[in-house]
Amino acid sequence: MYKTVVKMLADRGVTLKEIAEVVLEVQRGYYDQLTLEECLEGVEAVVRKREVQNAILTGVALDMLAEQGKLPEPLQSIVAGDDFLFGVDEILALSITNVYGSIGLTNFGYLDKTKPLLIGRLNSKKNGACHTFMDDLVAAIAAAAASRIAHARRPAEVIED
Ligand code: MG
Repeated sequence: MYKTVVKMLADRGVTLKEIAEVVLEVQRGYYDQLTLEECLEGVEAVVRKREVQNAILTGVALDMLAEQGKLPEPLQSIVAGDDFLFGVDEILALSITNVYGSIGLTNFGYLDKTKPLLIGRLNSKKNGACHTFMDDLVAAIAAAAASRIAHARRPAEVIED
């Protein structure tokens, strides 16, 4: 399943390395020793979780069907047009951020608002491509990976309290 999901993302123009670059971009201000490899490890761990894989499978399938004009109306127009009042793309992505608790939610909100790097590219991509779900999935995966790093780097004495 992990390999299928990674390939599905790659076929849609999204690599785990690019998601890791987003994680590094938002976390480097907090941890000056943080490396891209560490961020990539975090992203891989997030994508190995079953609930994350389920969200990716669902969201990417809906994007692809919208691109092909195969969704029933009015859903077709809503997803293809990335109607900002739709909101189901963000709700689906929350099943990813939930995996690492409430820090994930805060990180997701930040990424959704600032749209750095790959997220901005997905959001602005036109020429018939539909990434209505993908931009939120990527933001959520990056947010969850960032939260995982935050939890892992928490000083031992704080955890023991
Ligand atoms: Mg969206």
